[in-house]
Amino acid sequence: MKKVVLLGSTGSIGTSTVKVVDDLPEHLQLIGLAAGNNAALLIEQARQHRPSVVSINDPAKIGEVRAALGDSVEVLSGAEGLIRLATLPEADIVLIAIVGTAGLQPVLAAIRAGKDIAVASKEILVMAGEIVMSEAKKYGVRVLAVDSEHSAIFQCLDDKPSHSVRKLWLTASGGPFRTTPKEDFQNITVERALKHPSWVMGRKITIDSATLFNKGLEMIEARWLFDIEMERVGVVVHPQSVVHSMVEFLDGSMLAQLSTPDMCLPIQYALTYPARMRSDRVHTSLAKIGSLTFEEPDTERFPALNLARRAGEVGGTLPAVLNAANEHAVEAFVNRRISFLQISELVERVMHRHQVVPHASLEQILAADAWARKEAVRMETMR
Ligand code: NDP
Repeated sequence: MKKVVLLGSTGSIGTSTVKVVDDLPEHLQLIGLAAGNNAALLIEQARQHRPSVVSINDPAKIGEVRAALGDSVEVLSGAEGLIRLATLPEADIVLIAIVGTAGLQPVLAAIRAGKDIAVASKEILVMAGEIVMSEAKKYGVRVLAVDSEHSAIFQCLDDKPSHSVRKLWLTASGGPFRTTPKEDFQNITVERALKHPSWVMGRKITIDSATLFNKGLEMIEARWLFDIEMERVGVVVHPQSVVHSMVEFLDGSMLAQLSTPDMCLPIQYALTYPARMRSDRVHTSLAKIGSLTFEEPDTERFPALNLARRAGEVGGTLPAVLNAANEHAVEAFVNRRISFLQISELVERVMHRHQVVPHASLEQILAADAWARKEAVRMETMR
């Protein structure tokens, strides 16, 4: 029985993780849950799974959660609540599915407490991948990928060292605007950007999938997870989202992992690794799918890819700046303060003004993140 702490239990990845645990009651047990604001769903999940500790970020909601759950469940709040959950002595693995970077300190705390971590929150690895991976090495814990692309690469690599790899290939669905002509980009609305062709996900990642920033963040995530230079991380557009990603080995052989899209699959693999367990959720009929197609990404319509490549190549504090500026820009777009095209423009302008600190410490990364958010606000108001 693996004891699982789930941070971000009420979101898209969080609720899929709860389904995976429901599917495998003899192998997985939820012992800690954390949510942002959704007290009602957290209470429902806690009543069903009886974790020993839960945390709700919004302190105003602690009373409601305590009243509903009684004395048998400890109810915490805020950043301290996340750290406490991430370091619960009985936990075997901590899955982080909090949108954005609020999971960074809990991830580091979990690693230092000797827990394996399963990371959905790619923003954390983009911001501080070098630090997270070196701490994981130091404390001898595993960092398991939850993102379907990285899970695919992990499965294909199957412990082969990075020097046996010619290139990692991340597949991208291309998002809702894959075939939209450049002239129409100025008319893209929030509603259109929120309609993803293959996946149902949280708002932030759905917008990131429309701009292709999601793929850009994933390139940097892959760079750190698999200890490989950015030049050896490629992107190919694959609209069917059946090939989740591929590894091209030195001898020219390519291995891919395929299935119909369902996040329960990579979540389950991260939680049960190294074992594979039965699941009836995914049955893939290639004959029904018929054809799998691949195309070059268009970096002119989707500048996010080149911005992310540059951030990953330069390294230091630049990926944190890209990530923070993008978080701000997505929020500004969703709240209709800027247009779709202005998301990548804003990120580029903030990146351009940043003085990069190479091989940055955690403090320098956090400072760069804060600087980028302020700078993004300034740039937005200067337009
Ligand atoms: P959602 O927006 O659906 O969920 C976000 C979760 O984070 C919610 O449970 C939310 O709580 C919680 N949360 C937000 N702030 C805090 C906080 N300060 N403390 C505790 N919990 C908090 O996002 P997704 O599930 O789509 O994505 C989560 C992460 O996983 C992202 O980094 C994304 O890039 C990544 N990812 C997502 C995929 C997907 O298919 N959705 C695929 C691969 C990666 P509440 O709702 O209660 O406010």
